[in-house]
Amino acid sequence: MVASRAGAPVVRETPCKSILNRSGIGDYSLNCYTGCTHACVYCYARFMQRFHPHEESWGDFVDVKSNAVEVLARQLRRAQPGSVFVSSACDGWQPEEAKRQLTRECCRLLVAHNFQVNILTKSALVLRDLDILADSPARVGVTVTTPDPHLQRLWEPRCATVEQRWQVLAEAKATDLRTSVMFGPLLPFLSDSLEVLLEMMTRAGDLGVDSIWVDQLNPRPRVWPAVQELLRREFPDLLWPYRKVLFDKSSRQAYIAQLRRRVRAASEKLKLTDRVSGCT
Ligand code: SF4
Repeated sequence: MVASRAGAPVVRETPCKSILNRSGIGDYSLNCYTGCTHACVYCYARFMQRFHPHEESWGDFVDVKSNAVEVLARQLRRAQPGSVFVSSACDGWQPEEAKRQLTRECCRLLVAHNFQVNILTKSALVLRDLDILADSPARVGVTVTTPDPHLQRLWEPRCATVEQRWQVLAEAKATDLRTSVMFGPLLPFLSDSLEVLLEMMTRAGDLGVDSIWVDQLNPRPRVWPAVQELLRREFPDLLWPYRKVLFDKSSRQAYIAQLRRRVRAASEKLKLTDRVSGCT
């Protein structure tokens, strides 16, 4: 075990029994880490702490599934090929991956066994692995919740910059890989306006991104306390409006209906309707 408390995340080695798991998002999901040191405020994976309690806060720990590659190799002897979402409850390319290379080696095995790798990340480290994905049907996707660098640093303090994420898509495209972008969760009253949607969709369209998903902020377990803390500190005037759109049923319905109209308007204006899904 490697542990540091001086501002650095606590890293533990936790061997796993299974790494390729059936999933509702694709056929399978694969997570080489429990926890994510990207520490996004709105992260829905915070629910993991219910099943894997840690004394550290979300973002301050990562458990490394140190035997992930061996376990995957064993599972692949029997598993039927299908699509694999990498990753569903962590970022597979968070900083610890730079030296561990577990996600990289798992992707290499998946590609070799004809599985379709679907990546979603907020890290430019994924560029390291385009070599093993090239010539496969893999899809490389990034998440963008706001084009504003200041907002990005507040909500996603340890992720790649938004520009670096666009660069990931550009380089994946240049490698002839399919690409996707997740605009979500859009931050109510901060990054959900028609202007912001047009700005982000224009960029995605210019880059030739194949699929664009849009998602709203959802009041998932353990998310609200973190969101509330940030709002109190940075946007106290938004505390009440957020409470309404997250927890008041009729306000939430009205908010989502409005958001859908904006998403539809932006995608129609930019002629991207065939590529946009979610919130539509
Ligand atoms: S990158 Fe994804 S998994 Fe990691 S903290 Fe952010 S939202 Fe959570």
